[in-house]
Amino acid sequence: MSIKLVPLKCPHCGSILKSDRKDLLYMCDNCGTFVYAPTEAVVNVKILDFEVLRNSKKYYMPVLTYLTNVEIYSEEVRGFFKERGMGGRWLTYIPAGGSLPAEEVVRLSKMLTSNPPQDSKEIDSFRDARPLPMEITIEEGAELAEFVFLSYEVDRPGILQGINYSFSANFNGIVYIPVYYEGGYLIGLRRYGGR
Ligand SMILES: [Zn+2]
Repeated sequence: MSIKLVPLKCPHCGSILKSDRKDLLYMCDNCGTFVYAPTEAVVNVKILDFEVLRNSKKYYMPVLTYLTNVEIYSEEVRGFFKERGMGGRWLTYIPAGGSLPAEEVVRLSKMLTSNPPQDSKEIDSFRDARPLPMEITIEEGAELAEFVFLSYEVDRPGILQGINYSFSANFNGIVYIPVYYEGGYLIGLRRYGGR
């Protein structure tokens, strides 16, 4: 284990970054730059505004995004051998806060990945709610992106018996998604009704 004794400075304006030990992402109070603590790299971050009003605790959930590229060479589904399945390129969303159990990571990831929040309004700072600490590293998120892809394959009709594929997930930045907490997390954007 290594302990950093020199405080992390904002690469953009030089201010000292306040650390919350649990949060892998630091935000500069002075200029708003986001820095990923393990590598001290500046990260591209978007914050989306709440679109749905509920009377419960609210937060901004850090969600890692990955440009995902999959090629399926062959797959075998219950005795049938197919030359190709679902391949292609898309953006995978991996929720990275809230100490989520694995099945919740997959559930929220599938909601966001299959219906990306592309046209939601961006804001330039957190309003009326605090961000949840980012707990999953960029590397761990890339592994989860592959896990989510495989869970899609398993959920398709038929019983998947074998798959031969290539997979890559390139980190593409972080989106803070507005969420409510009611025992589980609900997405505070209009297009995701209920859980
Ligand atoms: Zn700064």
